Amino acid sequence: MVYFIGAGPGAVDLITVRGKNILEKADIVIYAGSLVNPMLLEYTKKDCEIHNSASMTLEQVIDVMEKGEAENKLIVRLHTGDPSIYGAIREQMDILVEKGIEFTVVPGVSSFSGAAAALKAEYTLPNVSQTVILTRMEGRTPVPEKEEISKLASHQASMALFLSSGMLEELSRRLVKGGYSEDTPAAIVYKATWPDEKVIRTTIKNLSEDAKKNDISKTALILVGGFLGNNYERSKLYDPSFTHEFREAEK
Ligand code: SAH
Repeated sequence: MVYFIGAGPGAVDLITVRGKNILEKADIVIYAGSLVNPMLLEYTKKDCEIHNSASMTLEQVIDVMEKGEAENKLIVRLHTGDPSIYGAIREQMDILVEKGIEFTVVPGVSSFSGAAAALKAEYTLPNVSQTVILTRMEGRTPVPEKEEISKLASHQASMALFLSSGMLEELSRRLVKGGYSEDTPAAIVYKATWPDEKVIRTTIKNLSEDAKKNDISKTALILVGGFLGNNYERSKLYDPSFTHEFREAEK
């Protein structure tokens, strides 16, 4: 049996209880060494076999799973954050289906949630934005033309940009081209929830300069939008004059 488990954004205690329980029983762990906190491996049994997928191909990962499965081992594939976001799990799952190997997915806390916590921010503020766009600049993985940053920016929704902190000048250019003003609030959150986390509040215009000043070019999320500013309306849900299913309005 293979378990794809979200390791969370970094802090060892941000894996889910379910994820930790399974990790403690694992016979084999394949973890994404570039971003998963190695301290999580301390939850494993003494004789657990550990593989770092950073230096492995998809075929090698599957090979470890297949051999483990043949010996009835409990196999954990530990992915950073939540595995459904840039986790490359679909290709693994499809091969496991083909091979008739059973698997389960355990979700994790994504870094975009970790980053919001670090900023003490809420992405969905009334009268600011009710939408969060999770996206990236293209790298070796292309981004479909219709999802080009300036097109998404035209919505002025709250945006969280993964895998893009090495391309900030171009990112700012596209955000502005799409309609955000240069002084729109933005933030760089480096290694959210890790002990060496850095939180930098800035503007779209100064993203690149502030990243350089702080020596950040990877393992960071870029957040953009009015949700990082100070203007918003109170929620209706907790408004005393508003009645809903569980509460009568105050007279
Ligand atoms: N599945 C992961 C994302 C993997 S893609 C998740 O749900 O978070 C890798 C990118 O995620 C990095 O380039 C960076 O942009 C972001 N990232 C991952 N962990 C991070 C962290 N702790 N702090 C800030 N960004 C992080």
